[in-house]
Amino acid sequence: MATPVGHALAGVAWGALVGGRRPWFGPWRDVVFFAALAMAPDLDFLPGLVIGRPEAFHHGVSHSLGFALLFGGLMAWWGARRGAPWRWGLLGAGMYFLQVLLDWLTLDTSPPRGVPLWWPLSGRSFMAEPWLFDDVRRRPLAWATLWHDIKAAGWEVVVLGPPAGLALWWRRRRLRAAKE
Ligand SMILES: [Zn+2]
Repeated sequence: MATPVGHALAGVAWGALVGGRRPWFGPWRDVVFFAALAMAPDLDFLPGLVIGRPEAFHHGVSHSLGFALLFGGLMAWWGARRGAPWRWGLLGAGMYFLQVLLDWLTLDTSPPRGVPLWWPLSGRSFMAEPWLFDDVRRRPLAWATLWHDIKAAGWEVVVLGPPAGLALWWRRRRLRAAKE
């Protein structure tokens, strides 16, 4: 998996691009909302935490096209009650699949390597070769591990920061123009 930094930046970029001309919660609250929503697939840690093995379900079918569509459907249903099913559905499905894609682009050293990108069409796990993002390490508990993760997150900022910044700038202009 990429670090939360990378996921948040990708989520902000996607949200700014498809978020439309009206703020959802407010211009700055939206940035927080998009960043938080981008973490949704990694909630697959939670069922594992309950049984004492956080990694048990991580990067399972929760990281797939099938789950992205399911999440998009759920968001669309939620959005329908606010009169904007497409807007919410597109935001949710795209945001979710983007996190799956980032994880596909990330080095994974523990089998099965990668994520089951196309589930339920195929149960195979895929990892990009060559990968673009370094893995996140949790062990051993040492400065070297922390330093490794900081460098991994720094690289994500280099790659994903500019598109996120550009998308935000473009959205701010649109929001302002819509107000006038
Ligand atoms: Zn993930």
